Amino acid sequence: MLIFKDAKVVTGDSTTIYERATVIIENGVIAEVTERFSEPAEHDAKVIDGSGKVLVPGMINHHAHGVVNGPIFASAAEPLGMPKVIEQLDRNLLQGVTTVLNVDGFCTMDEVKETQRYHPINIKACTMHTPLNFTAADRLDAAGLRPEHRTMTVEKMLEQGAVAIGEIGGGHTLGGGGQDYIYIPRAIKKATGRDIDSFQARKLKLAVLGRFIEESACDIELVAAVLAEIGLDDCLTPEAAKQIVVNTVLPSVSVTLDGYREAANEAIRFNVPMIAHNAPTSMKVVHEIAAMGMKRFIAAHSNYLYTLEESIENTRKLKQYPGVIIDAAVHDCFGEKRLVSSPLNLLAFFKEDLADIVSTDYAAGKFDSMLLAFEEGIKLGKIGLAKAVGLGTKKVADAIPGLAPKRGLIEKGYVADLVLCGDPQISLVDTVTLAGTVVVQQGKRVA
Ligand SMILES: [Zn+2]
Repeated sequence: MLIFKDAKVVTGDSTTIYERATVIIENGVIAEVTERFSEPAEHDAKVIDGSGKVLVPGMINHHAHGVVNGPIFASAAEPLGMPKVIEQLDRNLLQGVTTVLNVDGFCTMDEVKETQRYHPINIKACTMHTPLNFTAADRLDAAGLRPEHRTMTVEKMLEQGAVAIGEIGGGHTLGGGGQDYIYIPRAIKKATGRDIDSFQARKLKLAVLGRFIEESACDIELVAAVLAEIGLDDCLTPEAAKQIVVNTVLPSVSVTLDGYREAANEAIRFNVPMIAHNAPTSMKVVHEIAAMGMKRFIAAHSNYLYTLEESIENTRKLKQYPGVIIDAAVHDCFGEKRLVSSPLNLLAFFKEDLADIVSTDYAAGKFDSMLLAFEEGIKLGKIGLAKAVGLGTKKVADAIPGLAPKRGLIEKGYVADLVLCGDPQISLVDTVTLAGTVVVQQGKRVA
């Protein structure tokens, strides 16, 4: 028996907070939540003092990359390797995440099972094993694909336990963030021997292809100015730079957009949720699919890469379609600020009640925690504590039914995946339990 005593309990149902309650766990499951608690007769009960702290359900991070040792991203790039995957899983766990959904949809369930042997966090999987999505990966990278990936299908993956179709599209194949931090710097390095960072790559890309990734948007004078600014004007002409960016970014874009339609048909055929990369390049196709009337269509990181006004307008339009679920991603807007430099959009999504669910996404592996995003939103008066916690727990479990059954809520009968954290600093994670087993203590992994 494990007992969290006298904590402020936020149940995850988006409304309920017990200012001072005790949660009793038996056999990995919540046996009781009570405001009137007397010491147990049982001597072997472990009691954790929750006074001055907040107890929440473990976060369900439904948009994580690199948490399974298999092909990563929609580009099916080389796996990170198990040590780095474990780092990613630890980062999640220490941020108070107890379930992760790997949205790198080319992984197999064997790779999920193998990774799960190395880490106690609950790992779930997506599938994107459709012909056009393979083609898109082939046009950009596909270094991580082996025969067992290529012969896998959506149907087989779902039979073996995948819980959603996704992530369809991505920063790599659609000319987004993945191009900025991997493929454009790599192509520039190959052509010139010089290193550029993701900000420089993005500036160059925007000058060549504009925000909606179209060759017609090229502003060759701006390309020249960017080359001068990032110190490449001595080794690249604007035309040469343009060709490098075009050849790196565009081949996978149109086939990826067709891959959305193909995946949407699969999601409808099998009646499973679909997670779609939602960014300016995919905006039109995302609306097209939203109008198809899918039961659960998750528009991923809807706050990302858009201007504030665009993201709000686009999201309001999407929300008019039944079945659309809006995800807001944290990225690294509080910490590293390398992929997303400001939390403005995310905070507006809290304030305007646009986010249905929240995730971290990847941000080159340096994502901030969902709890930190909630803490900041609460501190600035954009959202309340109960509602915020719901966006990372029960609402996520409801959005993707196979992801975290009987999890995401502090209520009798639910699995005891719990997080004890600071009050009001909920991003300070003290204790984490997985099915009632303490795996993090005083912010450090103990099991
Ligand atoms: Zn994405």
